[in-house]
Amino acid sequence: MMAGIIDGKAVASEIRTKIKKDVEQLRSKGIVPGLAAVLVGDNPASQVYVRNKRKACEEAGIYSEEHKLPADLKQEELVKLVNDLNKDKKINGILIQLPLPKHIDSKMILECVSPDKDVDGFHPYNVGRLTVGDPIFSPCTPHGVIVLLEHYGIKMDGMNAVVVGRSNIVGKPVALMLINRNATVTVCHSRTKDLNERCREADILIVATGRPRMIRGDMVKEGAVVVDVGINREDNGGLVGDVDFEEVSKRAGWITPVPGGVGPMTIAILLKNTVESAKRAAGLI
Ligand code: NAP
Repeated sequence: MMAGIIDGKAVASEIRTKIKKDVEQLRSKGIVPGLAAVLVGDNPASQVYVRNKRKACEEAGIYSEEHKLPADLKQEELVKLVNDLNKDKKINGILIQLPLPKHIDSKMILECVSPDKDVDGFHPYNVGRLTVGDPIFSPCTPHGVIVLLEHYGIKMDGMNAVVVGRSNIVGKPVALMLINRNATVTVCHSRTKDLNERCREADILIVATGRPRMIRGDMVKEGAVVVDVGINREDNGGLVGDVDFEEVSKRAGWITPVPGGVGPMTIAILLKNTVESAKRAAGLI
């Protein structure tokens, strides 16, 4: 049996259509949500991400600005820019595109972002709120994973969920979100013993390692839901996930493809967070 395909592209497009309508309504009340993206240096992947985010904002009617800064920028100059954006009334969301150059203390910069404009959900205040089960902004990619599962009616309550990867951007927050939805969660990483066995216990397997096709067919329980967060560029220019789609799709019940699975959800949630931030700033929620 071939697994059902979780179509992230379609779900993201539905969300974006809804956001566009929301923004039209807000604009009719004189409220224009605004997102500022900060890009330091010339990492080609980061440039593509920022460009796509800006295009998505334009399409949704969200005001957006891009701050492109040289790689040798001084840390205090970046702090000043973030502080200015924190005060800027046009801006409801501030996105610091990662990775930042090595000479800049990323943790410190993320803490400079006002928690009220932290649409990426990376500020320790928002991480803490997610941890206590009362999130305001939650990180876009893991939240996108949860929205996809909910959209397909996949039950999380009481299920064994295994997360492979423990990054602050994906693995840890998605594990918290699953705990908050009553899943029993195991988090695996590079020091995990018996990774194959742990994975085979999963009713829901979420993979975010950045290791192309590392999850093979024999690591997956028959009928499991498999969500592949990985985006890896191959030598021929194509994209592959962290899951061996060909093998795993023969065993899983549901699976996300790469591309067209989790990827498109990230931007959709970013737009959603920005619009919610604008509504909160206007006292509407
Ligand atoms: P990361 O910060 O590099 O973290 C990778 C995690 O995987 C680490 O916790 C690492 O363990 C674990 N890991 C690595 N090799 C492993 C192995 N052989 N067995 C078990 N665990 C292993 O990566 P990330 O930022 O979370 O991103 C993960 C993937 O998702 C990447 O492909 C990235 O491109 C993709 N991604 C996609 C989106 C999107 O869809 N929009 C957004 C973000 C990331 P240790 O902690 O022990 O080192």
